[in-house]
Amino acid sequence: MVYLDFNSTTPIDERVLDEMMKVYKNVVGNADSRTHIFGDEARLVVEKARSEVANLLNINKDEVFFTSGATESNNIALQGLIDYANKTGKKHIVTTSIEHKAILETCKALEKKGFEVSYLKPGNDGRILLNDVKMHVRDDTLIVSVMHVNNETGIIQPVQEIGDYLLDKEVYFHIDATQSFGKLVDELKQIKYDMLSMSAHKIGGPQGVGALILRKKRYKLPPVKGIMYGGQQEHGIRPGTIPVALVNGLGSACSFASLEYKTNIEKCRNLKRVLMEELEAMEIDYEINGDPEYCMPNTINIYFDGISSEALMLSTKQYCGISNGSACNSKSYKPSYVLVSMGLPIERIENSVRISWGANSDLNEVRNSFVQLLSTVKNMKI
Ligand code: PMP
Repeated sequence: MVYLDFNSTTPIDERVLDEMMKVYKNVVGNADSRTHIFGDEARLVVEKARSEVANLLNINKDEVFFTSGATESNNIALQGLIDYANKTGKKHIVTTSIEHKAILETCKALEKKGFEVSYLKPGNDGRILLNDVKMHVRDDTLIVSVMHVNNETGIIQPVQEIGDYLLDKEVYFHIDATQSFGKLVDELKQIKYDMLSMSAHKIGGPQGVGALILRKKRYKLPPVKGIMYGGQQEHGIRPGTIPVALVNGLGSACSFASLEYKTNIEKCRNLKRVLMEELEAMEIDYEINGDPEYCMPNTINIYFDGISSEALMLSTKQYCGISNGSACNSKSYKPSYVLVSMGLPIERIENSVRISWGANSDLNEVRNSFVQLLSTVKNMKI
C-alpha cells in the first residue's frame, strides 16, 4: 500500500516522534505553572518550540500563538476581529471561493452576524487575480484572507503580490499557509501578511497542534481576541493548557524543515517529473487541473477522461491511497467546490483525482503504484 494523500495529512516523522516521546516521558509539568521547577521545565520546551516556529518564518517568537491547528487558527483570525469590526464599522471581508471550509464556514457564520463577504473566484487555471482583490477592497474592508496554496489543486496563489498591495492600506491580511508552511520557506519569509495559519501534521508533525501568527509589524498586533473563554495561556488568544509534547512536535518538525526544505522540495519535484513521464508514456486521455507552472511539486490534480473518480478510488483502494478532494468534505460525495469554482465542466470534476506525496515518499514505490493506477485507468476504459 502506498500513501498518496499527503495534502490531507502526512505520516509523522520518526525523529519528531522520538522528541515527543522524550517529552511525554520526562516532562510532567504544566507550562503555565510558575510555582515549581516542573512548570519551568515544561515552559522551556514550549518556548524552544516557539523559537523553532519563529525561526522557520523569520519572525519574532512573541508573534507565535499555539492552537489546535489551522482550523482553529483560521477561526480565531476572522472571529477574533469581531469586536474590532463592531467598533470601527469595518465589516467587509474579502476572501476566495476556494478557501478551506475553516475559512468559508467561518465567513458564512459572520455573514449571519452582519458581515459582508466577497468571495473571489479563480480562473480555470486555479489562480486568484491580484486585480480582483484590488477591485473588491473598499474603505470598510476589515480583512483579506487568501490561502497560500490550495489543498486540492496545489496551486500557489499570488499572496506575495496581494501582501505588497495591501501594505499601505488599513486592511488586515491573513494567509492560510497550511499547505505551504515548511515547504515554501523562502517565499513565506517574504510575504507581508498580518496573520498566518498552519497545522503541524502537514509537515511530519503531530495532528492536533498548529499556530496562528500575529505580526506586530504593521499595526502592532492585530486586535485579535481569543474566541474561547478561559485562562491567560497564549495571552488569551488560545486559552487552555498548552499540550507540551504536541507543541514540541511542531517545533521539531519546524527545525527539520528549516534544515531540509530545499532538498525536500527537490525530492518532491523529481518525483513529480517521474510521474509526469509515466503519465505521458501511458497514452491515456488526461488533463492536469490548475496551471502546472504554479503548482506545488508534491501535488497533481488529474482528470482521466471517462473514468469516475469514485470508481477509480474504489478500484485502486487495495494498493494506494488517493483522494478526490478535501478529506474534510468526504463524508458525502459532492463535486469538489474548488474545481467547480474554477469553472471546470461537471464531467471533468467528477473524473478528477488528487495525488499528493512528500519528500520521504519512496520514488520507486510511488512510481510503481502510479503505473498500476494508470493501468487500472486503461483497463476501466476498455
Ligand atoms: N487550511 C487548509 C488549506 C488545509 O489544507 C487544512 C487541512 N486540510 C486546514 C486548513 C485545516 O487544518 P486542520 O484540519 O489541521 O485544522
